[in-house]
Amino acid sequence: MELQISNQYTRNDQRIHIYSQAFLNNLQAVRTLCKPETKICAVIKANGYGHGIREIVKILKQGPVDFFAVANVYEAAYILDIVGETKTLVLEPVHTYFGTDAVKLCAEKGIHCAAVDPEAIDFVYGCLKNTGLVLNVHVKVETGMGRCGIDAGKAAQLIKKIHTTENVSLAGVYTHFSTAAEKNMGYAEYQFHYFQKFLSSQSLLACKDVIIHASNSAAMLNMPQAHFDMVRCGIALYGWAEHPDLLKIKLQPAMKFEVPIVQINQYKKGQPIGYGRTFSAWRDTVGAIVPVGYADNYWRAYSNNAFMKVGDKFAQVIGRVSMDKTIIDVTDIADAKVGLYVTVIDNDAQSLCSVYRQAEMADTICHEVLTSLPARAARIIH
Ligand SMILES: *Cc1c(COP(=O)(O)O)cnc(C)c1O
Repeated sequence: MELQISNQYTRNDQRIHIYSQAFLNNLQAVRTLCKPETKICAVIKANGYGHGIREIVKILKQGPVDFFAVANVYEAAYILDIVGETKTLVLEPVHTYFGTDAVKLCAEKGIHCAAVDPEAIDFVYGCLKNTGLVLNVHVKVETGMGRCGIDAGKAAQLIKKIHTTENVSLAGVYTHFSTAAEKNMGYAEYQFHYFQKFLSSQSLLACKDVIIHASNSAAMLNMPQAHFDMVRCGIALYGWAEHPDLLKIKLQPAMKFEVPIVQINQYKKGQPIGYGRTFSAWRDTVGAIVPVGYADNYWRAYSNNAFMKVGDKFAQVIGRVSMDKTIIDVTDIADAKVGLYVTVIDNDAQSLCSVYRQAEMADTICHEVLTSLPARAARIIH
């Protein structure tokens, strides 16, 4: 194991394998679901859904990506040197707390920003007047998500204001669905129609310079009528969906997380294992200790519940997951020995340690399992 003395560190004992070809295949699968002229915005916020944002940018740049969407200006700045010709869209609406430097940087580097607030437009003007710089903004319309969009009436005024303010240019108009991954598409349809009515009322649909977008991965898969000029795909590019049955196309999970066995323990029948004695060996048991725990977001909810993959066999977590350590039952796995890497999260949707399984066990969605991947784990790019 590699170790360097430094004030930053990478855990080389925790390996996150990133499969470039799987990403590019997923991107191509998305591409084939869309019309040729539809732009693709790859959503890489939250450190590339936990995979490692810079690694993901370098891979996806090789495919047909028109935009990268990030959560905030910090992420935009962090990938600035590697995005190349691909544009960046900051999903957090521009506001006065961005600070002058951030607004100038975005304008200078052609980074697009969401916009929902007339005051923020005045602020942008204040930051940029007499510089000759222009900030491209995408107005986010509230259609039923109830988060950070601006109501349709006010959005119309905001668009007028943008048109009449120097140093600000309308580059996009968009909305976001709150239920596109649900079986019942009624509410998503309602949002779609509401958005379309707004676009018609503003004569935006035929407007060549303004990119209209609405669809996340689920809507990209389920609502082709809502693709407009661009789709914003996150989870699908990483090879997952809210539900496996949502998938109409073949996606390949693009990440596998592994850690080595660091100790093998023999437990006598009846011996308690781990904090709280929540598990007692029901037979003479061989346990393998692996260096991953809830501090690495291998959640306590996985205690006595999750599986890891050892070779081609599955081993159950026994006892509580602790802060940095977890124990798995390898009694029936002869190959288990110190130094052998075991799979914590598999790149196989059917696996007992797939992201779907982990999400189910922790009562959450794939997005949260992925964004919880340990940031310090070594990334190995294939
Ligand atoms: C995160 C996000 C997306 C991507 O969602 P997925 O379900 O991962 O495809 C799209 N649009 C916006 C505004 C988002 O915040």
